[in-house]
Amino acid sequence: MQNLIRMMDTDGTLCVIAADTTETVREMHRLHGTAKVVSAALGRLLTAASLMGSMLKGEKDSVTLKISTDGEASPITAVSDSSGNVRGYAGRNDVVLPLNAKGKLDVSGAVGKNGTLTVIKDLGMREPYVGQVPLVSGEIAEDVTAYYAASEQTPSVCGLGVLVDPDTENILHAGGFLIQLLPTAMEDTIEKVERGLENIKPVTTMLFEGMTPEDICRAVLPEFELNVLDSAEVGYRCTCSRERMKNALRATGKQALSEMAEDENTEVTCNFCNRQYVFPQAEMQEMLAE
Ligand SMILES: [Zn+2]
Repeated sequence: MQNLIRMMDTDGTLCVIAADTTETVREMHRLHGTAKVVSAALGRLLTAASLMGSMLKGEKDSVTLKISTDGEASPITAVSDSSGNVRGYAGRNDVVLPLNAKGKLDVSGAVGKNGTLTVIKDLGMREPYVGQVPLVSGEIAEDVTAYYAASEQTPSVCGLGVLVDPDTENILHAGGFLIQLLPTAMEDTIEKVERGLENIKPVTTMLFEGMTPEDICRAVLPEFELNVLDSAEVGYRCTCSRERMKNALRATGKQALSEMAEDENTEVTCNFCNRQYVFPQAEMQEMLAE
């Protein structure tokens, strides 16, 4: 099922992307066993990564979002490929906090408020593009908006949501949208966007009501006439492999390799999907000898 869509207004002044990431976040929850507030925090960051990844141009491009703070769940990492397929993990999965003053999951409490959002775009150049901004709120959507304003000088609006069943901890709905003004934006474009956003419902409410990503794009931009650019099916995808793990081991250097080669087996676990890779002593020694 197509669960991510990109649209542009007929005047070419802005584009909007929306995604239903419910299945993506469910898979994340299944793999990591995240407690409710971590499901919400990592789920939002994965959704943001998916929206941002879908804008990458090169097939092999990728974008990494990393939040490093004083919060209990920090650091939180999400990576997207150029199609919007994502993977990620949190520093801790078992953070439990009381609900916030609004009676909602305290995402900024788990994420932390004092820290940074780092965006690393690997665009196939020699060096990746790296942008970093101080966290604004730790609620993630505002932080993504702040990143675009400060690092890419692109006026944006981002909305993200993850709805968790309070009793079963199951993921009920997850999704988000990202509006970006293009350089061709006119003076009244921002006003029209802001007016439209005054009365919108939370993303998870729209999903609960059965709205599709296309419906969400149209709902958040009621004053614009939108055309579909493209759509895709995105999900949680880990890209780990035995060869990639070997490369990671090689990168630890000769000293570390020789220490590991003393053990009968070296076990490496993928942070993104918890898959275990076992390298017997002989294979480690082979790598050391290379
Ligand atoms: Zn993996």
